[in-house]
Amino acid sequence: MSVRTRADLDQLPPYVAGRTIPGSIKLASNEVSEGPLPSVVEAINRAAAEVHRYPDMGVGRLTGELAERLDVPSARIAVGCGSVALCQQLVQAMCTPDDEVVFPWRSFEAYPIVTQVAGAQAVRVPLTAGHALDLDALLAAITPKTRLVFVCTPNNPTGTLLRRAEVESFLDRVPSDVLVALDEAYFEFVTDPDAPNGVDIAAERDNVVALRTFSKAYGLAGLRVGYAVGPQRVAEALRKVCIPFSVNAVAQTAAIASLDAPDELRKRCANVASERERVHRELVGIGYDVPETQANFVWLPLGERTDEFNEHCLGNKVVVRAFAGDGARVTIGLPEENDAFLAAARSFLL
Ligand code: PMP
Repeated sequence: MSVRTRADLDQLPPYVAGRTIPGSIKLASNEVSEGPLPSVVEAINRAAAEVHRYPDMGVGRLTGELAERLDVPSARIAVGCGSVALCQQLVQAMCTPDDEVVFPWRSFEAYPIVTQVAGAQAVRVPLTAGHALDLDALLAAITPKTRLVFVCTPNNPTGTLLRRAEVESFLDRVPSDVLVALDEAYFEFVTDPDAPNGVDIAAERDNVVALRTFSKAYGLAGLRVGYAVGPQRVAEALRKVCIPFSVNAVAQTAAIASLDAPDELRKRCANVASERERVHRELVGIGYDVPETQANFVWLPLGERTDEFNEHCLGNKVVVRAFAGDGARVTIGLPEENDAFLAAARSFLL
């Protein structure tokens, strides 16, 4: 007799991380290319001297700082080990085995994984022909078994943004016992004035939770910190299903130090946004079909030619993120990194 793992896990596809290849430019994981700010590195070093102690399990100081800056009560905030952990905690907190989790597809690849790990049922809703979220189709997919809907805006990997009015109208029609998670991992890069603000929306509605992260614009991907803002009952449940002490002490300190540098954050995001517009414009000029993007990446829906494009970029020492048969997602990096990618894109025969 041998040990038995859950049979349903045999069919579970593993999460695929962007590859790091020494000597190549990594534009595969939507990270920022610049390292942490000196003030953040200093805070990390200070925190490192204290790691013989457990972290603050309640993440009190960081939660307090977020509460003040976002103007929401601390009781409505839950901090997690990256917002991907909060996605998993949300499914655990909301669903029992037969319950359904509805999400757009293609979208963040963790949604189906965390749903299946929790034993719930994943309901994938196709994007529109323009690679955007189809809110009417998401609504139509909601059944009495639906407990949670993920709405990712800007959407990973297509970069498309939902406008505030369409999100509000969607939420008006979602049954009040279904929780909508507005995944705003790329919120800080958005420049469109009609964009929704999930935290503000969550403050006005009893069935909305906003998810944000320190991994992207704040540049702390390696430390794993994200947060959720939603109904107090949901925040409490998220804390209950969290592994004790999982948000480590260095991460908590670094996140606080990052919040203390808002001007630097704005500057970095503005640089990303202007490079994003340049890369988009040039790709369209070459002849690629690239949806409008408000995130720190572009989406090239290359279909069956995706693997070929991926190999071509690898040959030119640029690592992109390929989704076989569907498309390639390319992170906006520093100007010279983007130039290297654009040169590769130019020499690929469309
Ligand atoms: N949501 C979306 C849409 C993402 O793209 C990502 C990261 N790829 C996450 C959540 C999770 O980010 P993290 O766990 O690093 O906070």
